[in-house]
Amino acid sequence: MARFDSIEAYKSKIKKILITEEEIQAAVTKTAEIINNIYDGTPILLVSILKGAFIYMAEVYKNVTVPSEIAFMTAQSYFNDTVSSGKVEITMDIKQKLEDYHVVIIEDIVDTGRTLFEIVKILKARNPKSLRVITLLDKPSRRLVDFNADLSLFTIPDHFVVGFGLDCGEYFRNLPYIAEYNNDEE
Ligand code: 5GP
Repeated sequence: MARFDSIEAYKSKIKKILITEEEIQAAVTKTAEIINNIYDGTPILLVSILKGAFIYMAEVYKNVTVPSEIAFMTAQSYFNDTVSSGKVEITMDIKQKLEDYHVVIIEDIVDTGRTLFEIVKILKARNPKSLRVITLLDKPSRRLVDFNADLSLFTIPDHFVVGFGLDCGEYFRNLPYIAEYNNDEE
């Protein structure tokens, strides 16, 4: 786990800003507008998988004007290079009966696609009225399973990124922008 001797060492891990705070705020507004238009008055449940999407979820939720609830899940993945699916365990589940809701999953990033491929399968089996996936970031070049979100706000190249909820070793989630992480050893 990264331990930082100085603020300079900490800052040196932020290589380059890929998406600015202003661009993210515009994407948050756009996400909420799309939700407000699609679900015009019908009760919805916004679901996030902790922790990466918690800031995106909070910012979008502040701008949602249709009747809505939020819920959070945690999941443990057991993937390796030879296993591409079927290995996700929900470690904290949502309590709502999904039959009563239109469900919108709010995700931070779709990378290989394996986590959401499994979570969507699990949640669809609970017969929600409908289910959509919205992701802030998408790395299609890394995909290992046939999964795409219904809406992706930004497509990014194959870089490890931090900020706006996304961490490296639990650090950097509070950056107001999305940055490429500097993997170089000091
Ligand atoms: P998957 O590979 O199943 O699509 O993504 C699993 C999880 O890996 C994501 O929800 C996210 O938490 C994490 N992840 C994937 N790519 C990145 C990245 O570039 N930066 C960070 N901080 N997490 C990532």
